[in-house]
Amino acid sequence: MTRFPLEITEKNYVTFPFFKNDKLLSDSPLCGMSIKAAGSMRFRWNETNENRDKFLKALCEQNGLKALPVELIHSKIVYDIKEGNEADGRQGDGMITCLKEYLPVVTVADCMPVYLYESESGLFGVVHSGWKGTGIIGEAINLAEKNYGVRAENFSVVLGPHIRKCCYIVNQERADYFAENFSPDCVEKLEEGGSCSAGGRGLAVNWNSGSGKLYRLSLEKANLAVLKKAGVPDENIAVCSDCTCCNEKLGSNRRETAEFSARFPNASSDQLSKSFTVQAAFCGWIK
Ligand SMILES: [Zn+2]
Repeated sequence: MTRFPLEITEKNYVTFPFFKNDKLLSDSPLCGMSIKAAGSMRFRWNETNENRDKFLKALCEQNGLKALPVELIHSKIVYDIKEGNEADGRQGDGMITCLKEYLPVVTVADCMPVYLYESESGLFGVVHSGWKGTGIIGEAINLAEKNYGVRAENFSVVLGPHIRKCCYIVNQERADYFAENFSPDCVEKLEEGGSCSAGGRGLAVNWNSGSGKLYRLSLEKANLAVLKKAGVPDENIAVCSDCTCCNEKLGSNRRETAEFSARFPNASSDQLSKSFTVQAAFCGWIK
């Protein structure tokens, strides 16, 4: 497995490559994500977001691509794009395709974007893997195997920037769900006085604690367990080491919501739900 940090430049997005046999792949699609400076990439079919439209238009024009959006719903639904219109007007959380002229785009804000590529068929894609959707990368690989006759062992997968266990503090119920469904080692009990970066700065982070114990959750470990089960070799997996909640150049649901509620203690739940920077995660033939 390869671990890499993000290289944030003057651009308003980051890109990173796929790896196979622990070697960087060239002549392959790239993985990418907008950063906080790019502004909100929130997407709903019935809403307009001029900021997002402008960002994707520039990115697509530079690369001769067409953006393929989908409205996320924290599901495990993945669309196979064979014509280009399969996800139009649809809700779901991932797309795969062999069509080089398209750029599948999902949205994330602490949730993990997971990118996949299979070199023989040229199949590539991206999925949004939040806590509810963890396992969606397994669904995407199954769908590709079924529709294209490709094999899991030939996939390259990148676990993109997400909230890491330094900051992802969850309640007993969520910890139990992950320990049972993915791997017991993806949760660990929160140490005495432990906190996340936003909590450490005195911001009130909503940990959904209830009255029970708190845990640190590793979405990386949960997704590695999914990939192991699917049959993707360790040496074809790369993991971004940046945490969206720690790195202030990235949008983060937990950090930015805590910052917003510190400034506006009477904010409504609707205002809070729009107070963080939703980022666009995309995969395709970007130069
Ligand atoms: Zn962190």
